[in-house]
Amino acid sequence: MEKIVLGIFAHPDDAEILCAGTLSLLSKAGWSVHIATVGNGDKGTTTHLRDEIISIRSAEARKSAELIGATYHGLLIEDIYIFYDRDALNRATSLVRKIRPTLVITHSPSDYMLDHEISSKITQTACFTAGIKNMDVPEEVFYSIPTLYYCDPIEGKDKYGEIVQPSNYVDISTEIEIKEKMLASHESQQSWLQSHQYSEYILAMKRFSAKRGKQINTSYAEGFRQHLGHGYPQGNLLKETLGDLVVVTK
Ligand SMILES: [Zn+2]
Repeated sequence: MEKIVLGIFAHPDDAEILCAGTLSLLSKAGWSVHIATVGNGDKGTTTHLRDEIISIRSAEARKSAELIGATYHGLLIEDIYIFYDRDALNRATSLVRKIRPTLVITHSPSDYMLDHEISSKITQTACFTAGIKNMDVPEEVFYSIPTLYYCDPIEGKDKYGEIVQPSNYVDISTEIEIKEKMLASHESQQSWLQSHQYSEYILAMKRFSAKRGKQINTSYAEGFRQHLGHGYPQGNLLKETLGDLVVVTK
């Protein structure tokens, strides 16, 4: 089996908040790690012009990815205008065909904002359409559907405020420092998020990772649910790969 993992998220910094610890563990286990964002990050600013912030955030995402030897890819769709449409599906399908991952990680299908939810749905479909011959994309068909996992929604709750219980917890206690460094690479986000969403960007990530950790009696953890619908791989690849670091709850 090829050890290739692809994380597809909406915005630069989502992978860092949701699963950087797990990606770091996979990198250490010899996996080739790829991080992609559907959105270009252009709405994450109160001061910069669009082109400026796109290039700043892309550089931040690359710097963060490099910390664990990962490669960053941008699908370059405008934030907020991420639609489940032909263009986005073709871009995501092309990416999956190029990377040919065995493991894919994305957002929870239910989350606090639509960019996350739509990116999750685009990713779910791209895992499948990579293997459909007559898609309108030039890359060679990739027939093997990757094992797909969903990260926790932000704050671990869906849009109705219901608690989302992970089926797999990954113990990332040894990776919390690198996770923090990766998130800190997104310097442009620390100032504006303080006024909009998080009072303390990095502390909020650490608090939530600690909360997940406490649920499995460790310091820090990340939660995942596996896509187990028809046609997708049913084996628990995260558990098979990371062994005792993964606690399966159902
Ligand atoms: Zn986001």
